[in-house]
Amino acid sequence: MTEPAVASSDATNIQSTITEDGDDLVLNGHKHWISNAGHPHLNICIFMGVDAKAEEKGLGRHNRHSMVLVPIPTEGVDIIRPLSVFGYEDAPHGHCEMKFDNVRVPRSNLVHEMGAGFAIAQARLGPGRIHHCMRLIGAAERSLQLACERADSRFAFGSLLSEKGVVVESIARSRCELHQARLLTLDAAKKIDEVGAKNARKEIAMIKIVAPHMAQVVIDRAITIHGGIGLSSDLPLAHQFATARFLKFADGPCDVHISQLGKMELQEQRKKRGEGRE
Ligand SMILES: Cc1cc2nc3c(=O)[nH]c(=O)nc-3n(C[C@H](O)[C@H](O)[C@H](O)COP(=O)(O)OP(=O)(O)OC[C@H]3O[C@@H](n4cnc5c(N)ncnc54)[C@H](O)[C@@H]3O)c2cc1C
Repeated sequence: MTEPAVASSDATNIQSTITEDGDDLVLNGHKHWISNAGHPHLNICIFMGVDAKAEEKGLGRHNRHSMVLVPIPTEGVDIIRPLSVFGYEDAPHGHCEMKFDNVRVPRSNLVHEMGAGFAIAQARLGPGRIHHCMRLIGAAERSLQLACERADSRFAFGSLLSEKGVVVESIARSRCELHQARLLTLDAAKKIDEVGAKNARKEIAMIKIVAPHMAQVVIDRAITIHGGIGLSSDLPLAHQFATARFLKFADGPCDVHISQLGKMELQEQRKKRGEGRE
């Protein structure tokens, strides 16, 4: 989905084009941050683009995008380079910059139907977000475990780190915040099971806002307890910290979720007051 030329947090901005040509579709566009595009087993990708004749056909902003399956390799597909995250390459999977130059695929490669791309993206991204939150909880849990082990073995200024109030407090705060995020994630998962991802938008937005921030804070505290070595690649903490930071962007920036959640809350409160304002 994501393109360097446009603000891709708003998927309606996507500019890559899909041109219908008889029994074929012709794809053109420039993408970046395409996760797993560097995977050695990659043999198919999903291309999201706008109908090249959207204006002519009078299509709206939410029904002019489609998704198309593109086998790899196909002539015209260029995987240019993996982008790094804080210097980490995330090899061999990578998050790649890609170009699609007159890529021709059969119309049968269309996912669902022309114009369904935006709806498919919305349906897939909701449940996808909760997986990232579960991974973040795992990363934070591991960081806290490492922090406790280190605090119980490192001796400074006459006592173990685990005997210093400031360290004990940071461990206690990490446990509270981790548990809060875990319960919020379990609650969102339950809601998705019960009413589907569409009706669990509020819960999904809440964990997408809370989990990456929690993980960053908990991992940061673990780094502090480890001292300088916490920043090195000898331990998983620095990489996990970078991952927590990029998950504030992946599957939609937290700010967008904050904005949508705030609007949903305002609407619900207005409804409770009997005011119809949208
Ligand atoms: C490691 C990594 C992996 C990724 N993997 C993929 C992938 O596999 N496939 C894919 O398609 N994309 C992928 N992405 C891209 C990611 O989804 C986008 O970076 C994200 O959607 C934001 O788009 P953008 O970078 O164009 O930022 P922009 O859209 O330019 O947004 C920039 C900033 O504007 C602000 N903003 C925007 N809208 C609002 C709003 N409504 N309210 C308040 N603030 C707002 C936010 O602060 C936001 O961070 C990945 C990104 C990273 C970093």
